[in-house]
Amino acid sequence: MPETSDEFTLYDLRVEVIDCRGKMVCNHAIGDYFELSGENLSLPAGQTFPIYPLAALLTFLPAKQRKTHPNDWMTTDTDIACPDPHCGAIFRITRTGERVFRHRDVTAVPWKPVKPVEPVKVNES
Ligand SMILES: [Zn+2]
Repeated sequence: MPETSDEFTLYDLRVEVIDCRGKMVCNHAIGDYFELSGENLSLPAGQTFPIYPLAALLTFLPAKQRKTHPNDWMTTDTDIACPDPHCGAIFRITRTGERVFRHRDVTAVPWKPVKPVEPVKVNES
């Protein structure tokens, strides 16, 4: 059955420095965070966030915004280490809420109903 609405849901995310295993090298402290809602990233007033760990974290955020299977590691794994090998920071990605968007509000590509795709099993023996 094709979808009849162009609405879809994304999780709002919070990414927070929750631990330091060793020395904190980058300019982030435990408790620093940013939030992501749709395509919009926000920081608390007066707080900064270094671009190098941000670049590494960005690769995970679109997947964490979307519903994933309960068994998928993208669902269960929440902590990511700082990409600087000398920095001990640990970042936690938390889904803080759900927000409904409409296709027509976020893209110029015309929406049309699509049939759900049947899953293909891999590593089946
Ligand atoms: Zn770091």
